[in-house]
Amino acid sequence: MKQSVTVEAGGARMPETTTPHHFVAGIGAGPANLSLAALAGRHLPERVVLFDRQSGPSWHSGMLGADARLQNSWIKDLVSLVDPCNRLSFLNYLVTTGRIFAFLNAQFTAVPRVEYARYLAWAAGELGTVHYGVDVVEVDFTDRFVVRGRNGAVATADHLVLGLGTRPRVPECFRSGTGLIEGAVLAEHLDAHLNRSEAPPAGQVIVVGGGQTGAEAVQCLIRRGYRDIRWLGRRHWFAPLDDSPPANDFYRPTYQKFFYQLPDEVRRSYLAEQAYTSDGISLDTLQEIYRANYEAFLRDGRAPVMLLPGRDVVRAGSTGGGLGLWCERGSGGRERHTAGLVVIATGREPAPMPLSAALHELVETDNAGEPLIEQDYSVRWKHSTAHKLFLQNRGRFTHGLADPNLSLLSVRSAMIVNSLADREAYTIRDEQVYTMWA
Ligand SMILES: Cc1cc2nc3c(=O)[nH]c(=O)nc-3n(C[C@H](O)[C@H](O)[C@H](O)COP(=O)(O)OP(=O)(O)OC[C@H]3O[C@@H](n4cnc5c(N)ncnc54)[C@H](O)[C@@H]3O)c2cc1C
Repeated sequence: MKQSVTVEAGGARMPETTTPHHFVAGIGAGPANLSLAALAGRHLPERVVLFDRQSGPSWHSGMLGADARLQNSWIKDLVSLVDPCNRLSFLNYLVTTGRIFAFLNAQFTAVPRVEYARYLAWAAGELGTVHYGVDVVEVDFTDRFVVRGRNGAVATADHLVLGLGTRPRVPECFRSGTGLIEGAVLAEHLDAHLNRSEAPPAGQVIVVGGGQTGAEAVQCLIRRGYRDIRWLGRRHWFAPLDDSPPANDFYRPTYQKFFYQLPDEVRRSYLAEQAYTSDGISLDTLQEIYRANYEAFLRDGRAPVMLLPGRDVVRAGSTGGGLGLWCERGSGGRERHTAGLVVIATGREPAPMPLSAALHELVETDNAGEPLIEQDYSVRWKHSTAHKLFLQNRGRFTHGLADPNLSLLSVRSAMIVNSLADREAYTIRDEQVYTMWA
């Protein structure tokens, strides 16, 4: 809907302009906001419009290598846990693209991530409300939200949902200006980097980071023929993902409700204890690395991967032989490793929120400066009764470990739709819980 509105920037009134106005605008078109747009459907007065800085549909495109698999069931798609008849289900995607029989016959135990990325692109196309190539640099508030891209206002909205996702966390010692020090590459750029490089796989490569991304970087190097890979991790072991039934209890709506009402310090200690249910490495990935080592040792008398857990990289700098990493060992003492190439896989952090300073002032924050998130994922802020501002994938400390994952994506979206519609548009049922949490 096009409307003539007056847009103000930080108090200074700009000339009247014609900017599309929406009931709900979403920034980011990753799985979180795609799920919301898919579920909003007939329950809201208008379709949800999304803006994303990427030039087209793309989901962690640098991390879709062979054997990259989803860590959760495909039933936990954009919609099915709350609305299995929704046309944007993964099952409907497989049927309408004609791949259902081939997919079933391939007998995957876990869906290839490249298939999930295709599903998301299909869903975005079906929705038809995603605007790509819009880097939102500021969100302001006048009597409505004003969304600004690099060339000015792109939309105004009554309500806003930020689904900005995460970006790689890079330790200070690997940074140089706005980029990385020479010889270092982000795990998500490793494949492209190796494709560009004309050199045969030779010399030592170090992978820093003991999570799934680090493990997949190691797998990628093994497949490309590297035979001298050092894998450093800060934890004292390369911990597998706990996918057991008690671990998966944490990824149920009932547990989220329980978790939300716990005191802050209890939530934080539980999160630390539950870390491996989310941040551990898939068993398949670990098995593949150990098997590659075993077989290479049988053939060549030498294993390609040296596992170095309990190492904290505290300094990095160029040495005669390449990039040197100084590590503090958890077991005591220091050591140095040097390699021609260092792959950074040191976790992710929330993407920056493009709220204007004036809007940020109106938002209630915690001690760490993070917005306070209500149980329905809305932010506590000055005009929240008339204009809701929601945060997706930013509630790890309030809603638990399911929040940054795909597991309860559709449940979170359903709760946001209910809040926007101001009624129980979706009923979230989670019966037969056998664990008494309190
Ligand atoms: C390699 C990888 C694999 C993963 N695999 C799994 C898995 O198997 N199972 C699981 O449960 N979880 C997984 N996760 C974790 C998580 O589920 C995903 O990161 C998921 O993509 C999060 O969805 P999202 O929509 O919140 O964020 P994202 O997918 O990151 O999407 C955010 C979008 O917002 C856009 N954006 C950000 N800021 C702006 C801005 N200012 N203006 C315009 N656009 C903006 C970005 O371009 C991006 O497209 C994985 C994470 C990674 C990194």
